[in-house]
Amino acid sequence: MRPLHGQNLLFAWERGSSPAHLPALHRALSMLEVACPECSRTALAALGISARDRLLLQMREASFGTRLDCRFDCPQCGAALEFTASTEALQPPCANQSDTEFGAYRLSLREATSEDLCVAAREADGGEALRVLTERCVHVENEQGQLEPPSTWPFDLRQHAGECLETLHASAAIVLQFDCPACRRHDAQTFDAAAFVWREVVHHAQRLLDDVHALAWAYGWSEAAVLRMHQRRRQAYLDRAGL
Ligand SMILES: [Zn+2]
Repeated sequence: MRPLHGQNLLFAWERGSSPAHLPALHRALSMLEVACPECSRTALAALGISARDRLLLQMREASFGTRLDCRFDCPQCGAALEFTASTEALQPPCANQSDTEFGAYRLSLREATSEDLCVAAREADGGEALRVLTERCVHVENEQGQLEPPSTWPFDLRQHAGECLETLHASAAIVLQFDCPACRRHDAQTFDAAAFVWREVVHHAQRLLDDVHALAWAYGWSEAAVLRMHQRRRQAYLDRAGL
């Protein structure tokens, strides 16, 4: 894995910022594509969402360290709740991929991947999107051990399959519980690793662009020359130029 420093940081920011359908999924995959050149986008899109998020946190650790500064706004009074956590503490657990039975049927479930979510999101209706996701992630066998195609699933089996998939995804989520010190409201929020890491990539990329701009202005150096420098050396020149 390559850390997102210098040119790679700007590549990740640039690719993730390109207009695309489903920006959140696109950004997560774009960052990983830069950090993991040995993996194709297709292979990255085939990872379960919790595996993708573990990889994103690994990339974050290699790029910006292990300490995460988190902030939430209380949904009731708007007070800012700030805390620090480690990348390890916020690693999503592996989803509990277990088989289950429903009457005479046997269900095998797997966690949704970026590709599954992309296909499901083509449906305009939320209910239809869930149907597509369930049909892709749940395989059903009848009592003869034959695959039961989704078109033949009875209503209650379909409903049960959807609920099991939801439970599977909940088992792989990181839920942060907190009490607001201002209004005492107790709340819980799911930690969105992809959104968190993307905000950091944007922040660091903007700072790097500022440095390139300032040094190019002061010394006439090219972007490539500034990006090749270690951050400490860049800062030393910025200090000398009084920037
Ligand atoms: Zn509050």
